[in-house]
Amino acid sequence: MFCNQCEQFSKGCATTGPGVCGKDPDVQSLQEIILYGLKGLAAYAHHARRLGMVDENVDAFVEEALFATLTNVNFDAATLLQYAMDLGKWNLRVMQMLDEGHVRRFGKPSPTEVFEGTKAGPGILITGHDLVDLADLLDQCKGTDVMVYTHGEMLPAHMYPNLRNHPNLAGHFGGAWQDQKREFAAFTGAILATTNCVLIPPPSYAGRLFTTRATAVPGATRLATNDFSAVIAKARACAPLPASPGKKSTVGFHHSAILALAPTIVDAVKAGKISRFFVIGGCDGAEMGRNYFTDYAKLTPPDSFILTLGCGKYRIREHNYGTHLGLPRLMDMGQCNDSYGAIQVAVALANAFGCGVNDLPLTLVVSWFEQKAVAVLLTLLHLGVKKIAIGPNPPAFVTPGVFKILQDKFDLRITGNDPAKDLAAAMG
Ligand code: SF4
Ligand code: SF4
Repeated sequence: MFCNQCEQFSKGCATTGPGVCGKDPDVQSLQEIILYGLKGLAAYAHHARRLGMVDENVDAFVEEALFATLTNVNFDAATLLQYAMDLGKWNLRVMQMLDEGHVRRFGKPSPTEVFEGTKAGPGILITGHDLVDLADLLDQCKGTDVMVYTHGEMLPAHMYPNLRNHPNLAGHFGGAWQDQKREFAAFTGAILATTNCVLIPPPSYAGRLFTTRATAVPGATRLATNDFSAVIAKARACAPLPASPGKKSTVGFHHSAILALAPTIVDAVKAGKISRFFVIGGCDGAEMGRNYFTDYAKLTPPDSFILTLGCGKYRIREHNYGTHLGLPRLMDMGQCNDSYGAIQVAVALANAFGCGVNDLPLTLVVSWFEQKAVAVLLTLLHLGVKKIAIGPNPPAFVTPGVFKILQDKFDLRITGNDPAKDLAAAMG
C-alpha cells in the first residue's frame, strides 16, 4: 500500500496490510488507478482545451473522481471500479473532443508521404504531442529560412493539410522518446519539447532545448507563452543542418481515411480475404522485453492488417510489411490519443457485421509506459473490449487482487515472452 497522502502514514500505518482507517491494498490500488487515469485524461483535456474544446461534464467528473480518492471517503471496491470505468467513458469524450479539435483547426487528415532526415540550413526539431505549439511555431517561422522538423509523437502532424502544406514544415527526424539523447545531440539546431516524454538533457544540447508551459527540465529554457522568437533565434545561431535525406514513410491513416475504405474492408472480410486486424502500439519504452511487439508484428500473417499509434509505432515501423488488397499492411493512425480513431474503426466494423467488438477478428496488443496509457486502457475496458494484451510489464499499482478482477471481467492479459505462441492463440 502507498498511503503517503495521509497523516497516519508517518506512524507506519498501512505498510503491510489494512490500515487504521480500514483501507485494504485493493481499494488503494483502485484509487491509484483512478488517480493515474485522471492524470492521463487531464493531459488530453489540456490539449483539447487549447483547441477550444471543453465539456463541463468532464470537469465535473474529474472533481468527483478526485474527491473519491481522498482519505476516508470511499472504501468500496465496487464503487471505485465503477469510477474507473466512468473515467474510461469520459476519457473517450475527451479524445473525441481532441480529435474534433485537431480536424477543425488543421483540416481533414489523409495519408501522406513524409520526408525523413534533414535539409541544408537552420532548423528546429519539435517533439511532444501539442499540435497548437507546432502550428504557432510554423507561423512564426513563415518568411524565414528556418525549417521545422517533427520528432517522436509529432510525426502524425503531417496528416493534417493545414500543417503539412506549411512551407516551413520540412519533414521528420528521429524516433521514440527514449532515443532523444542520441538524436537531439545529433540534430544541430534548436529543439522544442511541448509535452512528455522529454528527458533531462545532457550539456551537449541543453542550451539548445526549449520547453513549453507544464513541460520543463533542468538546463533547458521554459517558455510560458507561445512567443517562439527565442527558439527561432537559437536555430539561426546554431550550426546549420546538413542535407541528409533518409527514407520516406507514409503516415495519416486517420479513422476517417480508414472508414472511407469500410465497404471494401467488410466485403474482403466476408470473402475470407482478411484474416485479422491487429492494433499494435501505445507507448514505447527503453527496457528489455519490448522486442515482443516487434516480433509479434513481424509474425502477423500477410492477409492481415496492423493499425498502429503512439510512439509504440517506432518498435514496428522499420519492417516492410508489404501490401494486401492494394493497401499497406501497416497503417499509422497517429498519436496515442488517436486510439480514439482505432475505437471508431472497431465500432464501425462491428456495426457493419452486426456483431460486438469482441466478435470481430481483432486483437489488441498494447505497450504502456505512462499515465495516458492508463486512461486509454480504462476507455477500452469501459467499452467492454476483452482479451487486450498489455505489456511488457504489469502496472505496479495494480494489486494481484485488482488484476484478477480485471482478468475475470475483461480477460485482460499481460504480454509474455513468446509472441509466436500468443499470435497463434489470437489467430485460433
Ligand atoms: S489512508 Fe488509511 S490505511 Fe492509508 S495511511 Fe491513512 S489511515 Fe492508514
Ligand atoms: S506515446 Fe506515451 S511514451 Fe510515447 S511519447 Fe506519447 S506519452 Fe510518451
